[in-house]
Amino acid sequence: MTQTKTPAAPGDRKDLSGRPFRQLIDGQLVAGASEVPVVDPATEEIIAKAPVADRNQLEQAVAAAKSAFQTWRNVGHERRVEAIRKIADAVAARREEIARATTLEVGKPITAARMDVDLALLWARQVAEVSLEPEILQDDEQAYITMHRRPIGVVAAIIPWNFPFFQTVYKVIPAILTGNTVVVKPSPTTPLNAMILGEILQDVLPAGVVNIIGDNGHIGPLLAEHPDIGKVSFTGSTVAGRKVMASAAPTLKRVVLELGGNDAAIVLEDADVAKAARDIFTWAFMNSGQVCINIKRIFVHESIYDAFCDAFAGLADAAVVGHGLDETTQYGPVQNRRQYETALRCLEIAQRDGKVIAGGARQDGKGYFVRPTVVRDIPDTSDLVREETFGPIRPIMKYSSIDDVVRRVNDTDYGLGGSVWGRDIDLAAKVAARIDSGTTWVNSHFALSPGVPFGGRKQSGLGTEFGLDGIHEYTDRHVINVSRA
Ligand code: NAD
Repeated sequence: MTQTKTPAAPGDRKDLSGRPFRQLIDGQLVAGASEVPVVDPATEEIIAKAPVADRNQLEQAVAAAKSAFQTWRNVGHERRVEAIRKIADAVAARREEIARATTLEVGKPITAARMDVDLALLWARQVAEVSLEPEILQDDEQAYITMHRRPIGVVAAIIPWNFPFFQTVYKVIPAILTGNTVVVKPSPTTPLNAMILGEILQDVLPAGVVNIIGDNGHIGPLLAEHPDIGKVSFTGSTVAGRKVMASAAPTLKRVVLELGGNDAAIVLEDADVAKAARDIFTWAFMNSGQVCINIKRIFVHESIYDAFCDAFAGLADAAVVGHGLDETTQYGPVQNRRQYETALRCLEIAQRDGKVIAGGARQDGKGYFVRPTVVRDIPDTSDLVREETFGPIRPIMKYSSIDDVVRRVNDTDYGLGGSVWGRDIDLAAKVAARIDSGTTWVNSHFALSPGVPFGGRKQSGLGTEFGLDGIHEYTDRHVINVSRA
């Protein structure tokens, strides 16, 4: 039986409309030059007004970051670590407020929004522990050669709308740990959590070290091309990522691009069907299918195909969809109208190209709700398989041999993540090694960690986030070569 609840929010929903949201520019909380309405995607009602910067405020934010860099780069590691620990403590103290704002603007269940804050805390605290000692490359009678990591300067952090608080924190923390200063630009549809972070940072950091400015769609390109910005850390679509890279070229900015994905799960012949279906369902539909590393294509061996499809459709039918502030909700709406319209187009493609075995129908009433939808017997040539579906609609394809499935899985321009599911772990790991992705999991998916590098191959991105490699992305190498000859 399917459960989609009425999209009415619990009574205390309006707690955001009475309070101001401000940008953080040069240590001051300031109103925008204009405002953008923030919409609850579950009700389509305006829940708050968020500030939007104009060109002048953007220039002030970049100038403040540029000026603060001259001090922050020299304050020393211990003081930066101390600041990061204070930020983490202050975020922890406001966990519920941040989670509720995230639920209201993103649409995700409150349990998931709390997890976003907890992940941000885990990342912040673990990154603060990383030591950044210089590396000794040569120490003999010829020379003493050391390699140091120097901050780049002003970093622009451009954030999407799916995990906005976590994404902001996991960019800001390694940037400031390594001595950079930052201008953060949230997505126009999910700015509130970033403005709350601005209030926290104002109390902890010297003026200008982190600046947070609001956007209604025009700020991203201005940051990407700004000559005083040294690096752009971008998470978003592959289309926008290409534009960021082009904008960065004239001043040779460093760029890290975390872009789209079309992750595949391969279910091997010996898999435990019920368990694989359950776990794959979790990672396929997490955040209503709006995660770069959601499982978006599912390939199942022909001998278990029917059983897997039936189990998967049963899980979709049982999913509880509703307003995120309801603690029992498992799946919220998709985040914005543009995504909703894309998802509706995907439903039409699903009906046209395959056999829909769960969900599939447009929901009546307010809110951008799309029930988890499962499609079987669909060819690899369908757009639902070839394109990244950033919404809760998932195709299941049949395969007969490992060589066949590896070829089909790799036949994509994306290369973000992937997973292989089976009881014979050695075999699954061998298949995993043949997948062209930045990360391939065996019997799991999405398992990210602050200590493990994450990034895309092919057109899923450039550069790395997380792990020591991810921290090093916020630095330039500086070799000091002392001759002893
Ligand atoms: P988007 O690319 O439209 O927007 C992302 C951010 O970039 C927003 O803040 C937006 O304002 C800004 N932006 C847009 N065009 C820009 C430009 N030309 N220059 C500078 N900034 C620009 O993407 P979205 O709709 O917010 O998110 C959905 C997409 O992002 C999906 O394709 C998804 O796979 C991808 N994504 C990837 C990751 C990852 O880690 N790889 C994480 C989340 C989302």
